[in-house]
Amino acid sequence: MTDTDCIFCKIIAGEIPSFKLYEDDRTYAMMDINPFQDGHCLVLTKAHCAYLRDADPTDLAAILPTAQRIARAINDALDPEGLNLIQANGPAAGQTVYHFHTHIFPRTLNDGALMNWGHAPGDMGRIEQVYKKIMAAMD
Ligand code: AMP
Ligand code: ZN
Repeated sequence: MTDTDCIFCKIIAGEIPSFKLYEDDRTYAMMDINPFQDGHCLVLTKAHCAYLRDADPTDLAAILPTAQRIARAINDALDPEGLNLIQANGPAAGQTVYHFHTHIFPRTLNDGALMNWGHAPGDMGRIEQVYKKIMAAMD
C-alpha cells in the first residue's frame, strides 16, 4: 500500500532521492536529512501506514532486525556513546511524517537530547487505575 502524497512512499518508490542504507521486502533504511547529530537514521515500513497502532505486525517484526543491522553499522562506523530508537505517533510525540518509521538516534554524553521524565516514584493507585483501563482495552 502506498500514499501518493507521502514523501516516504515517494522515496521508497525511487521518485525522490535518499541516502539509502538498506532495503528488503518490508523495510527501508536511510539517513535522516535533518539529523539531530551524525548517524541519525530512519527505518521505515515499506507499506504506507501512519501509526504503530495500524501497522501490519509482520512489517513491524521486520523493523527491528533492520534497525539492528543499521545500529551495528553505526556502532562500527561512529562508535557512539549510546543509541536510542525513537518512534513518534501523533503531533504531541513529535511526528512530522505520517508514514511509520523509527529513528536510530546515536547519542553522546551531554548531547542535550534529554529523556527527562524524571524517574520519580509514581502513585501506585493511579498506576493501577490506568493499568486496569489499558488491560480492559487489550485484544
Ligand atoms: P518524525 O518527526 O518522527 O515524523 O520524523 C520524521 C523525520 O523524517 C524527521 O527527522 C525528518 O528530518 C526526516 N525527513 C523528512 N524528510 C526526509 C527526507 N526526504 N529524507 C530523509 N529524511 C527526511
Ligand atoms: Zn507513505
